[in-house]
Amino acid sequence: MTRLKIAIQKSGRLLDDSLALLKECDISINNGKEQLMARASNFPLETLYLRNSDIPHYVEDGVVDLAIIGKNTVIEKQVNLVELLDLGFSACRVSIAAPRSVEFTGVEWLRGKRVATSYPNTLRAFLSREGIDAEIHVISGSVEIAPGIGLSDAICDVVSSGSTLVKNGLEEVLPLFSSTALLVARPGLPVEKQELVGRLVDRVKSVLAARDNKYILLNAPGDKLDEICRLLPGMRSPTVTPLRQEGWYSLHSVVNEKHFWESIDRLKAAGAEGILVIPIEKMIM
Ligand code: AMP
Repeated sequence: MTRLKIAIQKSGRLLDDSLALLKECDISINNGKEQLMARASNFPLETLYLRNSDIPHYVEDGVVDLAIIGKNTVIEKQVNLVELLDLGFSACRVSIAAPRSVEFTGVEWLRGKRVATSYPNTLRAFLSREGIDAEIHVISGSVEIAPGIGLSDAICDVVSSGSTLVKNGLEEVLPLFSSTALLVARPGLPVEKQELVGRLVDRVKSVLAARDNKYILLNAPGDKLDEICRLLPGMRSPTVTPLRQEGWYSLHSVVNEKHFWESIDRLKAAGAEGILVIPIEKMIM
């Protein structure tokens, strides 16, 4: 039986969201955290729990077919993988940060400086693109302490809220790129595996779309119906059914989570009443 192998982090920032996503896709994996490998009972999928920094190479070498991995790690490891989906979680930036006490004047400031990082390939590529000569000090963890202990003048590291930088007297001075978790695949998967990947991707897309949208029901007077329908285009168009009370209609549609409250304000201003909002479990296009 053909089965997909997917790598996910053994521990780290992506693990909980990765497991939650598979669960929302209705893929049951038995208590994976403690094991190296677990098999789903209701989908042809095996999960392998691996060290984050090893994952890109395991995908490239064909040990696994798929992985959930941060874009920052894919870029750093310089591997040739197919990006199937941006999963949206674990958002961060890979940035240059410098002590708050220095006056950062732009990328030229880095010339001749010592920069500590656990992203040497990313930093080297950036410096070479910019034509800047700087000394790269590779350290594997707690990069933020490097300037404080005199090891470097600046750092290049992952920044999320920025609070670790603040705690260490540093400031984000130059974001290099933004990163989120990705679903990636090995290029050139055999056809039977591609078919399974397609089924998995459809499930993940339906979960991500459902997270981004809410189901909305409201009452609208007949003379405002056109305007309210324009505000709620839905997946194809809204459902409109007459209420028992003459001249009033019930309207069902979906509303995007991102602009949710703005949409509600506009709907109320347009004459909508009795608005109900319900979470969507899956949204299949
Ligand atoms: P923060 O204080 O929220 O800016 O987090 C910064 C620290 O958490 C740094 O040590 C980063 O290496 C780590 N970090 C934050 N977000 C991520 C992420 N998405 N992936 C990996 N490490 C991260």
